[in-house]
Amino acid sequence: NGTPRIVVLGAGYGGIVTVQRLQKLLRPGEASVTLVSKHDYHYVTAHLHMPAAGTDRLESARVSIASLIDPKRTRFVRSAVRRIDPKRRVVELESGTLEYDVLVVGLGGEPETFGIPGVAEHAMNIRSLNTVRRIREHIEMSFETFKREPHRTELLTFVVVGAGFTGTEFVGELADRLPVLCKKYGVDPSLVKLYNIEASPTALPPGFPPELVRYGMNVLSRKGVVYKLASPIRECRPDGVLLNGGEFIPAGTVVWAGGVRGNRLLEEAGFETSRGQVAVDLYLRSPQFANVYVIGDCSLVVGLDGKRVPSTGQLAVQQGAYLARCLAASVRGEKAEPFVYRHQGTVASLGKGAAVGVVGSRILYGYVASLLKKLIDMRYLYLIGGIPLVLRKGVFKTD
Ligand code: NAD
Repeated sequence: NGTPRIVVLGAGYGGIVTVQRLQKLLRPGEASVTLVSKHDYHYVTAHLHMPAAGTDRLESARVSIASLIDPKRTRFVRSAVRRIDPKRRVVELESGTLEYDVLVVGLGGEPETFGIPGVAEHAMNIRSLNTVRRIREHIEMSFETFKREPHRTELLTFVVVGAGFTGTEFVGELADRLPVLCKKYGVDPSLVKLYNIEASPTALPPGFPPELVRYGMNVLSRKGVVYKLASPIRECRPDGVLLNGGEFIPAGTVVWAGGVRGNRLLEEAGFETSRGQVAVDLYLRSPQFANVYVIGDCSLVVGLDGKRVPSTGQLAVQQGAYLARCLAASVRGEKAEPFVYRHQGTVASLGKGAAVGVVGSRILYGYVASLLKKLIDMRYLYLIGGIPLVLRKGVFKTD
C-alpha cells in the first residue's frame, strides 16, 4: 500500500528513543514502525555496574518495553536477529523474516577481546542484565565455596581487566560490596584481593584530567583496589590471568572491561566496519546502503572537532532523538538537517558517595559529582518513562 515500513533492531538507548520519538512525530498512516528485541525489557547499561557488584538490585536497571511503547503505534516483535540482508532488504529473525523499507540498526556492542586467548571463554563481562547476573552470582558463590574449602584463597581474588570508565565504575562498587560479603560469610577481609589491571600507564580514559585521575585512583586505592598499570594481560585462564611481563595472578573471578566493539551481525551482513562499527554519514546512514541507519555502539561518529565520539549512552540517545526527526522528515519527502553531537559532559562513579566528572570546562569530584551522577541517571529515566518511572526506579534502592 506504499506506507514505508520502518524496522528498528534493538531496544537499547538508541532504539527505544528512536521509537518513542517516532510515535510522537509520525501521523497515523505515515509509516509503520516495528521494534525488534530479543528481550521484552530495556536495560539501563549505565547502571549495570551496581547490580553486577551486588550493590543494587537487577530490577533497578530493567524497564519492560511494554511500559515504554504504544502498541497502537509501534509493533513489538520479541525475537533475536539472526541475519541482516541489506541487498534483499530483509531481516531474518529466530521467529521468521521481516521485510523493511528503512532499517535502523541499534543492536549494541559486544566485548572487544582483541583475540587475547581465554578472555572470551573465561572472563565475565558487564554487557547485559544476563551477564551481570552471572557476575553477581559468581561472586556470592566464590564466598560460599571458600567457606567450605578455606584452603582455596584464590576464590577471594577478584580481577577486573581494564580501567576505563566501565572497569573503574565496577571496581568502585565491588570495593564497597566485598566488605559486606566478608561480614555476611564470616570471612577475614585481609584475605580478599581486588585488582584493577590496565594496559596504559594510568587509570581512566586517555585525556581525562590528571587531577581527576589522581583523585579517582586515591579514592579507590583507599578502598582496597590494587592497581596494576602498564600491565596488559596476555592470557586469561580458568584459574587467573597472565600479564605481559610473565606474572600470573591466580583469581577465582575475572571480569573483562577491556573495551567494546560493534555487533558482529553488521560485518556478517557485508557492512564495512572498524571494530564492528559502521562509520555513518552525516545523516547516520550506512555509506553502502542509504536506507540503513546505524546508531549506538554499532555506529562510529566523528565530531565537529574531527575526533571520534566515544560510544556512550549519551551519544545513542542523541542519535535516537535525531533519527526520529530525520525519518519523519524523510517519509514526508522533506530534507533533514545533518546530525550534530553535543557533548554534555561525563561523570563516572567511584562507588558510594564519590564520583569524578567533567562538565564543560568544570571538573567535579567527590559527593557533588556523585549527586550529579544520580541526577543524570534520573534524567534518563524521566526522558523515557516520565515521573512514574523515576519514582519506580529513580531513587535506585539497595538490597
Ligand atoms: P574503554 O575502551 O574505554 O576502556 C578499556 C580499557 O581497557 C582501556 O583503558 C584499555 O587500555 C584497557 N585494556 C584493553 N586491553 C587490555 C589488556 N589486554 N590488558 C589490560 N587492559 C586492557 O572501554 P569501557 O571502559 O568499557 O568504555 C566503553 C565506552 O563506554 C566508552 O566510550 C566510555 O566512555 C563509555 N562509558 C561511559 C561511562 C560514563 O560516562 N560514566 C561509563 C562506562 C562506559
